[in-house]
Amino acid sequence: MDTSAVTYIQAALGVVSLMIAIVFYMSWKTLGEKPWALRWALAFASLTVYWCVHLSAGRFPNFETYWLVANAFALATLTLALRGHCQRSQCSFLPKNLWPVTLVVYSAIVWTTLVSRNTGLSAAIFPLTSAVSLLLASLMVVRHRRHTRPAEWASAASMTLFAVAQLPTAAFLYGLGPDPDVVLAQMFSHPSMLLRPAGLVGMGMFVIFMLASDLYEDMREIAVRDGLTGLYNRRGFGEQAAVAYANARRSRSDVSVIAADIDHFKSVNDEFGHAIGDRALQHFADMLRVDRRVEDIVARIGGEEFVLVLPRTGIREAIAVADRLCVSMASSPLVCGGQQIVMTASFGVAAISDKDTCLTDVIIKADRALYRSKRAGRNRVDLESSQLMRTVDGSLEARRGKAAAGK
Ligand code: GH3
Ligand code: MG
Ligand code: MG
Repeated sequence: MDTSAVTYIQAALGVVSLMIAIVFYMSWKTLGEKPWALRWALAFASLTVYWCVHLSAGRFPNFETYWLVANAFALATLTLALRGHCQRSQCSFLPKNLWPVTLVVYSAIVWTTLVSRNTGLSAAIFPLTSAVSLLLASLMVVRHRRHTRPAEWASAASMTLFAVAQLPTAAFLYGLGPDPDVVLAQMFSHPSMLLRPAGLVGMGMFVIFMLASDLYEDMREIAVRDGLTGLYNRRGFGEQAAVAYANARRSRSDVSVIAADIDHFKSVNDEFGHAIGDRALQHFADMLRVDRRVEDIVARIGGEEFVLVLPRTGIREAIAVADRLCVSMASSPLVCGGQQIVMTASFGVAAISDKDTCLTDVIIKADRALYRSKRAGRNRVDLESSQLMRTVDGSLEARRGKAAAGK
């Protein structure tokens, strides 16, 4: 490969890096201003400068200056990119401030270039740092969530591939020693120069895909969650409930539903205002969330109406849960501006039976039970008439005593 071919490749790499930087900047602007998108834009901007430095190598007073400036921008690129991944995955195992580490690595490059004058070692430091950084970034992407998404797998795979490709480069350059054979070094650098565009574009594209996929996830979360309490809304509840019902049928296991409604909530609004009413809803939602298992579904399906779906739970256990919640609500007033607002709630419990064709049938039964408890005086747990035969747990008062004692 002659010098002009190398120049063209470097110019192309500069343009590609600039375009990726612009795409990241636009992603930052349009995909929710995630700070890590801006870091990645800056990383690719720094990479653009790095290629410009290569293109103007002849303008530097000597090789050492050119070499140290190029390495400074290369390291800045890596650090900015890694910092972006740290931010996105809220990483705790990497030092928060990566810049001091970068400074140490850069000092090693300066030392090997100017003092020990070991060209091979000096050239090997960057690919080695790059491999370690990319592997760490891949690890962060994969460990970020309980379920890694396809975009994250793709992004981590592209970074791991590029990282692994850097390792033989580092080993080869180190092996060249203090006085490298120029012909040998060039023979090696050309294929690696040709691989870089694919690596850069690939990694850039997959990370942008990951940003878009993050946005999709955020939007989905907004669509299925209630903004006030963070519980599932009606849509989210419908989706989750369908899965819970299908699982229960497949595994022939129980599933119970608890319908809950705050008593005389209108008077809370009337007496204390809508804002305090909102806080009361959050207070009740927090109470419903406490002690729930991962598979339990808690949703706010109306103004002050809530539903709990408890997979693998029979009617008796569900009654015990509702009893505890009922006691808990009555005995944990909302503390607001120095005053305590005591509230109660009513609960209706139902369990799946052979006659039910979908979870809605069970929810209707739980709703009827809730209506019964409202009519019976509120602040209590009730069952729908068809479910009464399934329990022999004694009177509500006796159960309440037990729930209060266990609290
Ligand atoms: P009951 O004991 O029979 O359930 O009486 P209630 O007053 O709790 O029930 P009702 O259905 O008459 O009133 C519900 C109230 O909930 C009316 C509405 O203003 C209020 N509400 C609904 N959504 C919200 C909300 O998001 N925030 C607040 N603060 N109030 C809400
Ligand atoms: Mg109510
Ligand atoms: Mg209501």
